[in-house]
Amino acid sequence: MSTAELAILGGEPEFAEPLHVGRPNLGDTGKFLERVRGILDAAWLTNDGRCVREFEERIADLAHVEHCIAMSSGTAALEIASRALGFSEEVIIPAFTFVATAHALMWQGVRPVFCDITPDIHHIDPAAIEPLITHRTTGIIGVHLWGQPCDAAALTQVAKRHGLKLMFDAAHALGVERDGRHVGALGDCEVFSFHATKFLNTLEGGAVVTNDDQLAEKLRFMRNFGFSGEDCVAHLGTNGKMNEISAAMGLTLLDQYDDLISANKTTYQAFADELPSVPGLHVIQYPDDGRYNYQHVVAMVDEAESGLSRDRIVAVLRAENVLARRYFYPGCHRMKPYAAMHEYAGLHLPVTDDVAGRVIVFPAGPQLAPADVGRIGAILRKASDSARRITDA
Ligand SMILES: *Cc1c(COP(=O)(O)O)cnc(C)c1O
Repeated sequence: MSTAELAILGGEPEFAEPLHVGRPNLGDTGKFLERVRGILDAAWLTNDGRCVREFEERIADLAHVEHCIAMSSGTAALEIASRALGFSEEVIIPAFTFVATAHALMWQGVRPVFCDITPDIHHIDPAAIEPLITHRTTGIIGVHLWGQPCDAAALTQVAKRHGLKLMFDAAHALGVERDGRHVGALGDCEVFSFHATKFLNTLEGGAVVTNDDQLAEKLRFMRNFGFSGEDCVAHLGTNGKMNEISAAMGLTLLDQYDDLISANKTTYQAFADELPSVPGLHVIQYPDDGRYNYQHVVAMVDEAESGLSRDRIVAVLRAENVLARRYFYPGCHRMKPYAAMHEYAGLHLPVTDDVAGRVIVFPAGPQLAPADVGRIGAILRKASDSARRITDA
């Protein structure tokens, strides 16, 4: 694309400071530093410290689930949970997810089998799973993408019918509830990520949550080298522990939980109000009958209506310091570690390929005031107008 095309508005960028997708929520840094001081004074940095235990209790309460086992990252949590559930050979996952969902399996020699997604909310399509099940299949991972829950009832039915374990990658979905069912207690277990870019961060961190007592015990052992007692190793294990400073960050943000959600919701609502006046941009709505964290502002681009492709819209916004992004492009099945293994995956993943080419994620959350969202809308309308004038001429 030429520079002339890029600089649709010309001149200085509309926003002096870049706006980022997933800008970290820092919360009350004074309160955080107080907690850090306490940790240093007690000289207890990790290994089931007070902050980690309190964090685990509060996450379990929030997710309405019995057990929360905090880990060093969402990926470590996915890996350890996969082990604890006994995943082997093949596990079915959506092709449209962050690559860590696939890596967590592949890293331990379990082959991810990619399933297509639903066109509306981009979740694993329960109807597309059964044709992929073979005698090698041991489980299914659903991803609550964009912070909305998968169709857990349909997935549970498929899993039960075929004797498969069911896990949810809930990295986007802390605090989410739909139809009275909370994300946290679905399937055999669920995995949260508390990475810096997520709704609630512990710098790096993650957790597995479950109502299964035995599974919870196994997960606790496995994240700590398999130790079940002082000199007793009950399982193969690794080091997946969360440290105290990370938990202190998580606790500080939990103290401000309601404010964080309402700031996210304000920005999301501004986009939901603004984008309908932009040709060819269709925002993914959060349905009214649930609770969400409103972390993701996502839209689908219809190039015929817009006059601009998704990639051109991203480029136009970037030139104005609005660092909107493609997401999960080009789909896990087309990434190098998986492409050769899944030569024909594209044939049965038409929705994934379509969505990966058209989805756009906007900077969101408290970094934006509703008026800023109006300015972004104005950029998009101008860009679309001039693109369509060029096409019409
Ligand atoms: C962020 C993310 C992960 C990985 O979590 P980390 O804490 O960064 O390891 C896994 N799955 C999805 C869907 C994610 O968005």
